Amino acid sequence: MEESIEEIVARINKKYQDKLIDGKCEVCGATVKYMQGEKEILCNSCQDQKETHKRRLKYLDYLLPLGYKNMSFATFDKARTKDVKNIDVALGVAQRFVEDDTGVYLYGAAGQGKTHLLVSALRDCVMQGKSVKLLRYSSELKNYKEKGLKKEDFFDEYSKCECLFIDDFGSVGSKDDAIDILYGILQKRIENKVGKKIFVTANISISKIDDDRVKSRVIGMCTGYMCHDNGVDTDKYINVIELKGNDIRLEGRL
Ligand SMILES: [Zn+2]
Repeated sequence: MEESIEEIVARINKKYQDKLIDGKCEVCGATVKYMQGEKEILCNSCQDQKETHKRRLKYLDYLLPLGYKNMSFATFDKARTKDVKNIDVALGVAQRFVEDDTGVYLYGAAGQGKTHLLVSALRDCVMQGKSVKLLRYSSELKNYKEKGLKKEDFFDEYSKCECLFIDDFGSVGSKDDAIDILYGILQKRIENKVGKKIFVTANISISKIDDDRVKSRVIGMCTGYMCHDNGVDTDKYINVIELKGNDIRLEGRL
């Protein structure tokens, strides 16, 4: 008698099942069945986690330009930045950024380690699965002007993600233009109710932002509250930090 389709499927399944060996997941130790010759023995959940991890690393690779790729908290050189005033505060704030819902405004002259801290915090956010965008003033602003993009579209692009990283605010073009664009993005993010998770590095001190609307938006974005046991917000903190010291990049070259 000829085999029915169901019988064929059952027979093949059984043949496959018979070849499976009992084993343990290499990561969590859960019992799994695996095929002989498999490179790695992983349970479904550890396999998923591994894929997710790979996907996030790939996204980081896409997001970060060449000179930024090896920047992380692990590669942050504390000895080299030890003479930079406020560097410990800045490092702590950057390390907490992934957990905190408060923005950060880090400013000072070039070469104080600002970008390294920004990229390290960005890395943490991506690896924890948050939606992240990076806006580099020095390159993207030029692109936006050359491409003739509409301001609204530009603001839109950076107003939907949970975490926005703005590097080198005010580094190119006129200060007024830079401030205008920052205001547009902040305003749009408020409209979109995406929260205050913006990490900005700048060479414009907060007192040099002479537009009060922008200044108050930036300070508002960087203001957080410590919540106490009784649920009343008490201690206020403002993550606006000035880094002061010698240019560590120039020192490195001497
Ligand atoms: Zn596992």
